[in-house]
Amino acid sequence: HSSHSPIRTLRAKMVLLGSSGVGKSSLALRFVKDEFKSASPTVGCAYLTRVVHLSDVTLRFEIWDTAGQEKYHSITPLYYRGAHVALVVYDISKRETFARAQMWLNELQKQYIQGSTVMWLIGNKTDLNQERQVSVQEGRALASDKGLLFTETSALSGNQTTELLLALAHRVYEGVG
Ligand code: GDP
Ligand code: MG
Repeated sequence: HSSHSPIRTLRAKMVLLGSSGVGKSSLALRFVKDEFKSASPTVGCAYLTRVVHLSDVTLRFEIWDTAGQEKYHSITPLYYRGAHVALVVYDISKRETFARAQMWLNELQKQYIQGSTVMWLIGNKTDLNQERQVSVQEGRALASDKGLLFTETSALSGNQTTELLLALAHRVYEGVG
């Protein structure tokens, strides 16, 4: 064998934003353990980690979950400062969470998030398709209007969650070169 250059490890801070109950903690648990728990798995202030191996780099995601401050509209900019990835999540079966996601996007793009942050719009709970209130087209249109990528997921079934994490890893890596 010729070269044995060690694979680089990059740290990537990921934050999840969106209304209470849309499934942020459940998505975090999916990313970290590929599990689902029906009780709300909010872990509090610490972050969870998940390592993703790409062909020439390893990404160590530090996934920050809220302790439910979003309920009281008291997320501080400290929470998402320095984030490499910001996921803005809504529940496809609850229209008001989609409106709230729009507000989040406006707020983030106005002041806090640097251009380098990978922002992704997530419509969660695709397993509740029968109760859908927000169409795929609406989600896609909002994302493209704001220059974000868009995915619909289900933390419950695991639909698209692995694919999403991998796509995020590629995006972050492209961003840092
Ligand atoms: P958070 O407040 O945004 O952190 O949301 P949670 O992760 O605590 O989830 C809120 C509720 O929605 C809990 O009862 C979860 O079990 C449920 N939930 C989360 N993700 C999904 C999903 O993809 N499908 C369904 N049907 N329920 C989900
Ligand atoms: Mg939570």
